[in-house]
Amino acid sequence: MKKVAIIGAGPSGVLLAHYLLRRNDQYQIDIYERRSDPRNIAFSKVRSFPISLGDRGMSPIAQIPGLVTAVKAVSIEKVGTIIHQKNGKTKVTNRQKPLVTLDRTHLATVLLEKLLETHNQHINIHFNTQLIAVDFAAKKAKLQKISTSVNTEVEAEFTIDYDLLIGADGARSVVREYLSNTPDFEFEQNYVLNAYKSIFLPKPDPIPDVNLEKNKIHTWRLTGGISVLMLYQLDGAMSGVILFPYANNPIAKLTTVDEVLTFFRDNFPEISKLMPVSEAEEFLKRPISRVLTVRCNRYHYQDSVLLLGDAAHAVSPSIGQGCNSALEDVFIFNQLLDEYGDNLAIALENYSLRRHPDGMAVRELSDYSFPVSKKLFFEFLLLNTWTKLLHNIFPQRCLPPIFEAVFQDNLSYKEILDYYQNWISKVKASNIKFYANVENNKQSNSGE
Ligand SMILES: Cc1cc2nc3c(=O)[nH]c(=O)nc-3n(C[C@H](O)[C@H](O)[C@H](O)COP(=O)(O)OP(=O)(O)OC[C@H]3O[C@@H](n4cnc5c(N)ncnc54)[C@H](O)[C@@H]3O)c2cc1C
Repeated sequence: MKKVAIIGAGPSGVLLAHYLLRRNDQYQIDIYERRSDPRNIAFSKVRSFPISLGDRGMSPIAQIPGLVTAVKAVSIEKVGTIIHQKNGKTKVTNRQKPLVTLDRTHLATVLLEKLLETHNQHINIHFNTQLIAVDFAAKKAKLQKISTSVNTEVEAEFTIDYDLLIGADGARSVVREYLSNTPDFEFEQNYVLNAYKSIFLPKPDPIPDVNLEKNKIHTWRLTGGISVLMLYQLDGAMSGVILFPYANNPIAKLTTVDEVLTFFRDNFPEISKLMPVSEAEEFLKRPISRVLTVRCNRYHYQDSVLLLGDAAHAVSPSIGQGCNSALEDVFIFNQLLDEYGDNLAIALENYSLRRHPDGMAVRELSDYSFPVSKKLFFEFLLLNTWTKLLHNIFPQRCLPPIFEAVFQDNLSYKEILDYYQNWISKVKASNIKFYANVENNKQSNSGE
């Protein structure tokens, strides 16, 4: 039996455990997760946000019996997007196939519950335990128990050995950090120029005069690169995020509850009607979060280390592909284990070869599908309508609009990027110029 240590109990780490445990007792699995068991702690609004999954993410989930039903039980299907304009007018884009939307924490919890329900005897999950170092040559990893008690000062460290170490430990991966000491490994990480804060709107009682359809994703855009994305949850509450340029940050300037309420009333009236004072208070306290994107030139080391999901190719959330691609990673790795009869040396090497073009493409698509400038945004809406029309007439020759295509499991990211390369190059040039202007304005305002 091969000893597998999975670092990270996020969506990719836990789904991989499901897959490996179905491979005829060949793998003994331990999962190490820095955070506490999500089943035992109160839902944290600071660390969570809604995610949308299409077939790309749902097909890998569907391979595990009972998992789709469990995921759908905590999800809402969304059949399109409504773009709200400041004058109250709306633009609706309907999807050909609905998206499954749910909170990231709920997804990780459901995957975990099902894993323990099915494989309780064969899996060890160590919560509050973080990876701190790896010795690739000796195949040993050093971990540290994180104390949950304020009185315990000494946090125990211990070492494990492994045959296969899985870095499913997210964008700030420690496994990747150690991989960067191996020959010819190159990686690049950058912050997305947009930052975000979560927004939670409780189910209103009584329901105000706001027409926000439950089965649509709702977005609002302001000039200056500020946008809001809100989705209904199962319980009638709404959750989402406000995105804004990190440089020249308008949200950091809000310092009182009144300022928060005024900001939403002036800019996002529909949201303001649903925002109680208590949420304005919480919003003020929540930290501003930044997204780190990651690009690596390979995702494995010999026959014993593999990066999955955000650890390998974290992307901007703008087109909702981080989790979809992380779950697809697991599906592809499992396919390679089938193809190469669980020969890890060959399967890992081929994983990097097969997955790398898509890892690079999803990063480019995530950064540059969506324009920040208003002028190009209208062009984007036109392109959307035009490509939809063409796809309906010539489904074999023309791809659906980018936002449909990326969620499909029958098109690789590389194919989509090749098809939409002209548009992506145009947005790239425009977005880079836009953020350079924001940065220049910041410097001239601060007298630098
Ligand atoms: C605002 C926002 C919106 C998003 N919307 C979408 C969307 O609509 N669709 C979509 O597909 N994706 C979306 N994403 C991206 C998605 O959340 C991530 O891509 C996805 O969670 C990646 O899964 P993962 O398992 O690779 O990593 P993660 O979910 O980051 O999980 C990594 C786990 O590893 C643990 N860990 C980290 N370091 C260590 C360590 N040293 N030791 C032990 N454990 C460790 C962490 O605690 C964490 O639980 C969004 C992201 C953001 C920020």
